[in-house]
Amino acid sequence: MPLGKTVAWEDGHTCGNCGEATETALARTILSAYYGSWEAIAVDAEGGKRWLCLPCGWTLRDKDLRRMPITITRDGTLSRPSFAELRTLLSERIPADLAVTLPIEGRKAVMADARWGAVATDSGSLPWTAAHRRALASVVELTSYGFTEGLLSYDAPPFGVLSKVSVRDHARVRELWNSLGRWRPDVAAWPTLVRLARRDKDSE
Ligand SMILES: [Zn+2]
Repeated sequence: MPLGKTVAWEDGHTCGNCGEATETALARTILSAYYGSWEAIAVDAEGGKRWLCLPCGWTLRDKDLRRMPITITRDGTLSRPSFAELRTLLSERIPADLAVTLPIEGRKAVMADARWGAVATDSGSLPWTAAHRRALASVVELTSYGFTEGLLSYDAPPFGVLSKVSVRDHARVRELWNSLGRWRPDVAAWPTLVRLARRDKDSE
């Protein structure tokens, strides 16, 4: 889809967002002067300019595509799932004809990394394996005990929330917490799992 008559596409540059050497256009002809994350787009070493490929230009320009989870089907239909819908979707294997994008920081066009049957996040395309699905189940169960997105990265369940959990469930909470221990250092999967704990009303 065209981005407008003022955008001139040319060969010979690398996209400052996804690093692809492809047809690009000057980022300043695609994004508005009010765009907030220029520093996240790499400057080309020779000319000192920022270039973007079409998918990145398109998705960076659209605030929702940059910040909200999106599902894409092979016929090109884009949908914006709620986080609750996303948790349900990602509790199973992602269908081979569906791509999911889940921006974390909202500063990158993760759409460029969208792949069928995978989740694209800030750190690239993440295959959604059975292990990821089990980790998500633990995250979801922890949120049912009141542990919110912002708390899951602690080494141990924060006492403020744990003190409100029935004592007979403490062992279960610790078991779930410990089962996530191996995921916390995972710079690709962990921010994704944490974001999936988000309550829908928090994101509006
Ligand atoms: Zn790109």
